[in-house]
Amino acid sequence: MRLTVLGRSPASPNPGEACAGYLFEGGGARVLVDIGPGVVAQLVRRHHPDELDAVVVSHMHADHMLDLVTLRYVYPWRAIPKEQRLRVIMPPGSADQLLDLASGVGNARHFEDCFRLAEHDGSTALAIAGLSISPIRTQHFVPCWGFRAEADGGRLAYTADTGPCAALDDLADAADLLLSEATLRSLDEDALPPEPRGHLLPAEAGAAARSGGAKRLMLTHLPADGNGDWARVQAAEAYGADVEIAEPARTYQVGD
Ligand SMILES: [Zn+2]
Ligand SMILES: [Zn+2]
Repeated sequence: MRLTVLGRSPASPNPGEACAGYLFEGGGARVLVDIGPGVVAQLVRRHHPDELDAVVVSHMHADHMLDLVTLRYVYPWRAIPKEQRLRVIMPPGSADQLLDLASGVGNARHFEDCFRLAEHDGSTALAIAGLSISPIRTQHFVPCWGFRAEADGGRLAYTADTGPCAALDDLADAADLLLSEATLRSLDEDALPPEPRGHLLPAEAGAAARSGGAKRLMLTHLPADGNGDWARVQAAEAYGADVEIAEPARTYQVGD
């Protein structure tokens, strides 16, 4: 399998970077996972969206889905035959929000005539050609699902946005690569008790990768702060091995 980082920035944008957007390629499929602001501009440097088999969205925060609005403008303003439309797989229960978003940008049919919209059910694996993508519910401020992607004997797991939770063990389990958010510099930046947590410190990403048995850990969704060395060092200490930082525009081999 291959992972390409189109964007990694959290909601408060890092200079010159797109928000969350990752290409997963394997099993004869190419899937865009998350589509935050700036991601489409990075995508079209490499691929026409027709070269995607699907777009899959982890949750309805702007930094993970707002460029769906932009993606629509790649297509002409006429209805595309249903079977030719790009498959867009949204989180369960998001249809009304998407309709609100469409109305908010001036056309309730903004998405309908060019995308094949569907929701996943929160647990059943999506089969996209030979690529299997299993949603795993994480702990976040809104309903959010990370994904375990498997193809060609490789396993790539993506936490999406999450606080510390049992799902991380599940995601890290036997992952050839765990792509983990590490959005916090300190716990002061997360929800304060008694509110449930919604993001991870780098050290927490490292601890999760270690306890779940991930073979490789890559941090993403970091706030702009130098080259991320501070996060890498903290995560590596907890993980017990070297940790990578997801670099925009880089492609990584996952598994053999
Ligand atoms: Zn986010
Ligand atoms: Zn979020």
